[in-house]
Amino acid sequence: MERRIPAKEMKVRTDLAACYRLIEHYGMSDLLASHISARVPGTNDEFLLNPYGMCFDEITASDLLRVNYDGEVLDETNYSLSTAAFNIHSAVLKGRPDLTCALHTHTVAGMAVSAIEEGILPLNQLAIAFYKRVAYHDYEGPASREGGVDECAALQRDLGPEKKCMVLHNHGLLTAGETIAEAFGLMRRLEKTCETQMYTMAMNAGGGTMRKVSYETCEEYYKIQGQRGRGRHDAAWPALLRKLDKIDPSYKH
Ligand SMILES: [Zn+2]
Repeated sequence: MERRIPAKEMKVRTDLAACYRLIEHYGMSDLLASHISARVPGTNDEFLLNPYGMCFDEITASDLLRVNYDGEVLDETNYSLSTAAFNIHSAVLKGRPDLTCALHTHTVAGMAVSAIEEGILPLNQLAIAFYKRVAYHDYEGPASREGGVDECAALQRDLGPEKKCMVLHNHGLLTAGETIAEAFGLMRRLEKTCETQMYTMAMNAGGGTMRKVSYETCEEYYKIQGQRGRGRHDAAWPALLRKLDKIDPSYKH
């Protein structure tokens, strides 16, 4: 018998499907190879992930796979679960009960910055919002490898108890949020930061002198930012949904 999806879960499913569409819309998808998850409301050990085999721009709310921390898919589906997705997202959501959504990308800019030792540089106002707020994770092979237990423990350790953004060295980017809107908002800004850094470093290599924001200003900005929560990301979300509704509202189904 087909399961009736509770209204609260359907709301999360709709937001998560919208997030997949937005990641595609803003050019941050990678066919089947990256993923976004959200906790199923009212549960401690269930979350939603993309069905392996669907592109981000075709995913709908009811397509999303409900899985538990043992890696079991809990509803009937014609699709499978990506092992890499399960390993990364179960690690983040299990390790951080304060967060409800995790988002992982393999964009060109994210991978480019992930491959330099220095990581995110304080090159502009957007970048310094990530000062002391980005975790780094060493590359130790594909996240899809069997078991993945060590990788999960390392991800949890590196993300720590407070950070919401991570550069996975030689791999890509990860953000997480108390809401889906926050995870998306952080990723959009982190992506733009990496893209801008790529251009700045290229201009620097071409003879332009790179100007970094001073240590003192970064510290000051960090103190001010400490008082800012997810509000600005949540505030933008309804507008992003309206944008999607104009493009293709089918994500809601
Ligand atoms: Zn990946």
